Amino acid sequence: MKEWMDAIVKPAAGPGLELRQVPVPVPGPGEVLIKIHKTAICGTDVHIYNWDPWAAEHITHPPMTIGHEYVGEIAAMGEGVTGLTIGQRVSGEGHITCHRCRNCHTGNIQWCKNTNSVGVDRDGAFAEYVCIPQTNVIPIDESLDEDVVAFFDAFGNATHTALMWNLVGEDVLITGAGPIGIIASGICKYAGARRVIITDLNDYRLDLARKMGVDYAVNTGREDLKEVMAKAGLTEGFDVGLEMSGNAAAFRQMCSVMRNGGKISLLGLGKPMVEVPMNDIICKGLTLQGIYGRKMDNWHQMSYMVQGGLDLHPVITHRFHYTDFEKGFAAMNSGMSGKVVLDWTK
Ligand code: NAD
Ligand code: ZN
Repeated sequence: MKEWMDAIVKPAAGPGLELRQVPVPVPGPGEVLIKIHKTAICGTDVHIYNWDPWAAEHITHPPMTIGHEYVGEIAAMGEGVTGLTIGQRVSGEGHITCHRCRNCHTGNIQWCKNTNSVGVDRDGAFAEYVCIPQTNVIPIDESLDEDVVAFFDAFGNATHTALMWNLVGEDVLITGAGPIGIIASGICKYAGARRVIITDLNDYRLDLARKMGVDYAVNTGREDLKEVMAKAGLTEGFDVGLEMSGNAAAFRQMCSVMRNGGKISLLGLGKPMVEVPMNDIICKGLTLQGIYGRKMDNWHQMSYMVQGGLDLHPVITHRFHYTDFEKGFAAMNSGMSGKVVLDWTK
């Protein structure tokens, strides 16, 4: 085993990232060392790259390795690790939870009160190796394409948000055709929704959503959503809403077109304080569910949906060698991208 490895590092407070040599982590008791094959760039990584106020608040200990969407194989195991094998293909749940709080005890790790995030609070996976606790290791079937498994973390956010509600025969509105919204549109069609309508202001991304199979991809900057609804045969409004833009205007528009008794799950993180249409929410009897991270069961659902035929390849728009990470971040920052996958195998 070598002692030094390449890693994409936030070197100091401020914009940019650097490819540099760092020590290969040594797995302690209960920990697993994973050799990285593929990684994907998340919006969070872009915040860290650009060093916006969120990054300045959350990345408190540079220099550190970033990244949390990955697939690889087990390279080494610390003392006491059982049930896994060297060379086994794995990904990892990025939220390292405490196993002690009330939510952890009841299996709701997504609500742990002591969460540490890989690639934010501790060294991440944009490196030749990453080290995580055994409890966070997710075995991945060899039948799955690694380019897709590379972004299972984001797929998990989409799965958690979409499968919060019954979708069979329902009409679904997704606000925000970012990578997660596009993936969610595929999940909703796969899960049996009648009509899936997605909105954005970005035509490039709306086109990607069409490739994923949405019924209508609507640019609300110039199209009237209510006209599209009439064309699609929606008479009472949407049954289910998935807010994936983090934009308050999109959320207000969503509330205005939900049917009475509709269900909304909220994933998009935007400005923390926004005006919300209280009268719509109350008088329509809407149910709102905040979504954070993903449930451990979502990892099983994701593998099985892909094996069952959910094809997520349309969301991948760029593939680069990891040494070209700057090109990957430029693509993400341009808005003209879906998922960007980095290859660490060569
Ligand atoms: P993204 O920023 O790539 O996509 C958001 C999309 O919303 C963009 O395409 C943007 O053009 C679009 N948008 C902006 N204003 C709009 C409007 N008025 N109407 C419709 N669309 C509009 O983000 P992503 O990576 O796809 O993630 C989706 C959201 O989920 C982000 O807000 C992200 O911060 C959040 N997120 C939350 C969690 C969580 O655990 N809660 C996890 C991951 C991501
Ligand atoms: Zn906990």
